Amino acid sequence: MAGPEGTRSAELFARAQKVLVGGVNSPVRAMRSIGRDPLFIGRAEGPYVWDADGNRYIDFLSTWGPAILGHSPEAVLRAVERALPLGTSYGAPTEREVVFAETICDAVPSVEQLRMTSSGSEAVMGALRLARAATGRETIVKVAGGYHGAIDGLLAQAGSGLTTLGVPASAGVTAAATAATHIVPFNDAPAAAAALEGAAAMIVEPVAGNMGVVPPRDGYLQALREACDRTGALLIIDEVITGFRVARGGAQERYGVRADITCFGKIIGGGLPVGAFGGRREVMRELAPEGPCYQGGTLSGNPLATAAGLAVMGELAKEGVYERLEASGAALEEAVRASGAPVHINRVGSMLTPFFTHGPVEDYADATRSDTDAYGRFARALLAEGVYPPPSQFEAWFTGLTHGDAEIAAARDALARAAGA
Ligand SMILES: *Cc1c(COP(=O)(O)O)cnc(C)c1O
Repeated sequence: MAGPEGTRSAELFARAQKVLVGGVNSPVRAMRSIGRDPLFIGRAEGPYVWDADGNRYIDFLSTWGPAILGHSPEAVLRAVERALPLGTSYGAPTEREVVFAETICDAVPSVEQLRMTSSGSEAVMGALRLARAATGRETIVKVAGGYHGAIDGLLAQAGSGLTTLGVPASAGVTAAATAATHIVPFNDAPAAAAALEGAAAMIVEPVAGNMGVVPPRDGYLQALREACDRTGALLIIDEVITGFRVARGGAQERYGVRADITCFGKIIGGGLPVGAFGGRREVMRELAPEGPCYQGGTLSGNPLATAAGLAVMGELAKEGVYERLEASGAALEEAVRASGAPVHINRVGSMLTPFFTHGPVEDYADATRSDTDAYGRFARALLAEGVYPPPSQFEAWFTGLTHGDAEIAAARDALARAAGA
């Protein structure tokens, strides 16, 4: 099913497909997994996005996580406006980067030093190289269904067996690139502990967000911490989604665990391209110019992106913010449940996924039992009702500070109609 004929979105998509591969700049945006053509977006404000035809949607994609204050928040617009006339890039250090790093180090105690990048993928890439440099080891353990960006070494899927060698999950990734990647199921601490013998690091999303939302079992993250301490491997916690979302100190604060290296992105850029990774001083010191591990970027610490990210982190420091995010997430969960859609809902704070399966969903194997055609029908019906969900079953729905009672009530009606469609 394509989008409605004769719309501006349809016209733009036809043009886009000639000059952009698949008409998009990131594959899932093409909406193929929910069986329709993409909407082209014209603008966004608060909890809403408007498509190129002027139709308004209550947005639960939240630009894949960054829009935690809602879209176009005053604080971010003003900060970027103030930064703009001072120049858009210098390729030299700035005061704002110092404040930015101080803000993150203050919020996340395991981070003593930071390195900024221009995306989450780049942050993860730097973290992996750093872990290998710091340990002198090569193997990286990751979980099946864990996503850490478009990085060759981590674009691996599990072969058979409980603990398996990675095989490339994308054309163009060499077998050599994934040979040092071991894959274990999420929420399986014994499998991780076994794979960590002699490994450089374990990388994990503390709340899985890219197989749909899957919370860690009680004690799982602590068991990974212990396994890393025992084997001398580093624990890399990928908080690109959870950082500043599930608590100010991210999942590490919410679950009481400490990473050796933490990766950030999404929220900390306020909708501009930013990533960062940081950790213990003795580990971070391996990075150039202090140490032998090279990492750098032309636009790293970009003045506009830094201004936007600082504005977001500033707003998130206000009283009661995380209680409001918890409440909006709970209200959306309740609205999805009340719709009567045959789903099992996983939620952590303001991130959730309704899986079209009978629960529980505790790892990737459980998640992939979901009826993705049913999700596709539900998502298409929601778009027709003016609600914008993630265009894939295996993604998180996000609420932000502008999803108030009125928006959730409107979404509730739309969800019920979509479930009956
Ligand atoms: C989005 C994401 C990344 C990659 O970030 P980009 O900015 O898209 O490169 C890495 N890790 C996790 C957990 C993510 O959700």
